[in-house]
Amino acid sequence: MQTLKVDYAVIGSGPAGQKGAIQAAKLGKRVILIEKEEHPGGTSLNWGTIPSKSLREAILDLTGFYERSFYGKNCTEKLISINDLNYRLNRVLEEQRKLLLRQFEKNKIHFVQGTARFTDPMHLEVFNSEGRPILYIEAQKFLIAAGSRPRNPLHVPFDSEVILDSTRLLKIDHLPKTLLVLGGGIIGSEYASFFAALGTEVTVIDKKEHLLPNLDGEIGLHLQKALGHLGLRMMGLKEPTKIHRRGQEAVVQFNDGTELRAEMLLYALGREANVTELHIHKAGVKVNEQGYISINGMFQTDVPHIYAAGDVIGGPSLASTSMEQGRLAACHAFGAEIHDFPLFYPIGIYTIPEISSCGYTEEELKQLGFKYAVGRAYYYEIARNIIVGNDSGLFKILFHADTLQILGIHIIGRAATEVIHIGQIAMSFNARIEYFIDQVFNYPTYAEGYRIAALNGMNKLRK
Ligand SMILES: Cc1cc2nc3c(=O)[nH]c(=O)nc-3n(C[C@H](O)[C@H](O)[C@H](O)COP(=O)(O)OP(=O)(O)OC[C@H]3O[C@@H](n4cnc5c(N)ncnc54)[C@H](O)[C@@H]3O)c2cc1C
Repeated sequence: MQTLKVDYAVIGSGPAGQKGAIQAAKLGKRVILIEKEEHPGGTSLNWGTIPSKSLREAILDLTGFYERSFYGKNCTEKLISINDLNYRLNRVLEEQRKLLLRQFEKNKIHFVQGTARFTDPMHLEVFNSEGRPILYIEAQKFLIAAGSRPRNPLHVPFDSEVILDSTRLLKIDHLPKTLLVLGGGIIGSEYASFFAALGTEVTVIDKKEHLLPNLDGEIGLHLQKALGHLGLRMMGLKEPTKIHRRGQEAVVQFNDGTELRAEMLLYALGREANVTELHIHKAGVKVNEQGYISINGMFQTDVPHIYAAGDVIGGPSLASTSMEQGRLAACHAFGAEIHDFPLFYPIGIYTIPEISSCGYTEEELKQLGFKYAVGRAYYYEIARNIIVGNDSGLFKILFHADTLQILGIHIIGRAATEVIHIGQIAMSFNARIEYFIDQVFNYPTYAEGYRIAALNGMNKLRK
């Protein structure tokens, strides 16, 4: 069998692996990137971020979601099918996969399809899909970027038609009239809102009282209201005792003897690290109690020349953070300049309406005893929003009542995941709330929300 000697062996071609491999290649290192699946890109490109956001965009366009406020709820007469959604999805996936392979080629990254497994701290063996060894790799440094998969308990009878996880959902052959979503976290809430926007009768079940309980409370309430308008039903404080299929229906039973039925069920109760196939014990790499690979602040595992980044090390489990973790790991591995992982980074939640936030929530500031003030801008005050379709939404800026330093920004509504970056940059330069008042912004734009919220906050302080 062929033995290959490289500087950097990267396991997994998701966001963490991609950016880690490219960064090491840019530093002039010989890099091999191993991916076990047929297509490159990891969960993010094939079953997670990109598919879900492509479907969201297709749903917004095909339903004429934003035109409804002008032209009525049934402004698009078209009946939307799963094929309409998949057409766009497949075009996006094809383009993105091609782009990724071109990037690997341009950076002279040796891309290999196969499953990697450690034999000792310096070597990996790679197996093809028939389980035959195809390559032996000796590397100076390693990056484990093997990602995560849905946490599917054995007692839940998953299939590809009725009882689904977020990966299986991408294979459905028709749109359901009714859907149960188990889990009100990010993935469950996003898909629940997409199907509700399509007209599916959606019920979300969670043991917590509300969806996305870590949101700033006011933003959470706004979301609940908006989802209520979409017809989404939330059943909080409920724990299922049994999930099963009865004929063509999914059935969820609860300990109070009640049950809920629907045409499909999306099980979205968490994910787990992809570690079992890696044989990390042979390299001396350890996992923590939650099953994620333990690392230090520089993404080194217990074995210093073996790094780990992305979902495989646990939260925040985002493509955005995984990319930067992968890049920082490669910089540290090869002695390039490195900074600490940013304290504040934006979280984007693509529910309909979308949400994005950066920094502290109001609840956290209260708990920490900060003397804070709040500035708000409602979307109905923003000219751009009225022009493009009058979505309900809110800008909320939290700032220190004495120093005026911005402490948190929370936005719900159209363009939230884009405009958050203006606030993020201001925060990273320790800006004070007046910054948004003293600058000129393009008009009419969503970004104007910052000015309106800043003025609102300052006016309240001056009273
Ligand atoms: C439905 C959904 C929606 C999401 N939406 C967003 C979003 O909007 N924004 C956002 O920032 N994040 C989002 N995420 C999260 C994001 O997808 C993940 O955080 C990100 O993919 C993690 O990147 P990663 O590189 O760590 O791992 P992954 O993307 O999971 O990639 C890991 C790769 O490693 C490969 N691999 C595993 N073991 C081996 C092995 N032994 N040998 C070879 N290859 C191996 C896997 O096949 C996989 O391709 C979403 C996730 C889901 C599921």
